[in-house]
Amino acid sequence: MPSSNAQPIPAARPVIGEEEIEAAVRVLRSGRVVQGPEVAAFEEGFSEFVAGRHCVAVNSGTSALHLLLMALGIGPGDEVVVPSFSFAASANSVRLVGADVVFADIDPDTYCLSPAAVEAAITPRTAAIMPVHLYGHPAAMDRITEIADRHKLAVVEDACQAHAAALHGTPVGAFGSGGTFSFYPTKNMHSLEGGMVSTADAEIARTLRLLRNQGMEQRYANEIVGANMRMTDVSAAVGRVQLAKLPGWTDRRIANAAYLSEHITAANVVTPVVAEGARHIYHQYTIRVRGDRDAAMAQLTGAGVGNAVYYPTPIHRLKPYWEPDQKAGRHWDLPETERAAAEVVSLPVHPSLTEGDLERIVTAVNALGETL
Ligand SMILES: *Cc1c(COP(=O)(O)O)cnc(C)c1O
Repeated sequence: MPSSNAQPIPAARPVIGEEEIEAAVRVLRSGRVVQGPEVAAFEEGFSEFVAGRHCVAVNSGTSALHLLLMALGIGPGDEVVVPSFSFAASANSVRLVGADVVFADIDPDTYCLSPAAVEAAITPRTAAIMPVHLYGHPAAMDRITEIADRHKLAVVEDACQAHAAALHGTPVGAFGSGGTFSFYPTKNMHSLEGGMVSTADAEIARTLRLLRNQGMEQRYANEIVGANMRMTDVSAAVGRVQLAKLPGWTDRRIANAAYLSEHITAANVVTPVVAEGARHIYHQYTIRVRGDRDAAMAQLTGAGVGNAVYYPTPIHRLKPYWEPDQKAGRHWDLPETERAAAEVVSLPVHPSLTEGDLERIVTAVNALGETL
């Protein structure tokens, strides 16, 4: 039994340390808080994590997806192929530009889009594919980019959970027409709130810079209709501090995951599968529980092990998607998505875990084997 006075291990632990606070205060004291030199330096620094691609910082990961779709000219009449097993922001961004979401099923091992399902979902109206690198595991980008090239489609990578993940040595965000990242506090690194778009195309990068700033490069000389999705210099200063720590944190996540996968032996628990050539950066360490998941989660919580389901309801079952589909008589056949939503549980894997925490997690998970 874990000692009853042991602190519960949180599922995630965002870091706002002294360095982050000092960086924010430094910018606040400078009086120059809106998008400026800190944002430019953050973009330059992040570019090294996406193979030197152009980087454009914005105020959230959702804004990054939204602006990238706009910059690619995707809108009404277009379809975008999206996994339903993701955070709603993936599909929401498609609807925000007035395009239609087409859901495709996932690979049961990686939880990312199944290339075969993507191929089957393509119609004459398809404009783009949006692979999500879920939990920090890269989607099958080699096969997805091959499909996209063959059908002349854009590829919008949702890398909001996958900073520094890679496939065969190429970092996510460097495969598609563009990649998007989130710096929300619970992600592997944060900027309080924030997002980033990466792209190899200088023209798209310029359009993104215009779109985030009312369509202006020169003040009051608006070239196109844009929004205000700028990142503040306060956020960027925090993001730069976190970016410097990202490689070390990522190594810790990978090492923590390796420990968990080696020691979790419960017969009714499936540990994460890593595809060949993939660098999984474990934004989440997600197991499948065969049996009563609610009971398993309650038992883990009782043992002081934080846990959560990402995501209990696939996007196609959420009201803004489900209701119009019901009305239109549209039905999505997504058996792997439904199964994953019913079975997954994410365990703590964050870099702050101690050896003792890891042992407690393993003990609690292995105890599930005796009770479920
Ligand atoms: C977090 C997340 C987003 C959105 O990022 P925000 O910064 O919260 O707007 C988009 N897609 C996925 C897969 C995410 O996990």
